[in-house]
Amino acid sequence: MLVKKEIELKTWDQDTMELQITHCGLCGIDQHVLNEDWGRTSLSPCCVVGHEIAGIVTRVEKLCHAGVTTTFNTWPNGDTTYGGFAKKWRGGRRYIQKIPKGLSNEDAAPLFCAVSCVYTPMVRWGIKPRSVVGVLGMSGLGNFAVLFAKAM
Ligand SMILES: [Zn+2]
Repeated sequence: MLVKKEIELKTWDQDTMELQITHCGLCGIDQHVLNEDWGRTSLSPCCVVGHEIAGIVTRVEKLCHAGVTTTFNTWPNGDTTYGGFAKKWRGGRRYIQKIPKGLSNEDAAPLFCAVSCVYTPMVRWGIKPRSVVGVLGMSGLGNFAVLFAKAM
């Protein structure tokens, strides 16, 4: 069940980064987490889904750039990093990737799950021009797989 509520952000430390969220993709995983299709998570009963986050860095110790993150999780001290269906995100800065110039946050956000799930394995398995790539299922990720394979 979706509800609107205030959440407490992760405790600030030097390895933390804070974003003003501008966009967040919607993935099938988000739907499964919301429906608890895979059972209760460590974040139940309060979970903010959304792991394809694009935003503007608003607080950091060192760098400053637009960024994205791809996770929500629980920290050893009990803090929680929530997902992107929110106004702000605060979590580990190691999860932040710089969005290349010329790519809008709106266009970048839905790419992150696809890059992790589709593009990275193609690179890892050495897909090159003229490689034959099979795609099973033409879902959102399947469509990205075809686009990535064609562009490689
Ligand atoms: Zn996803």
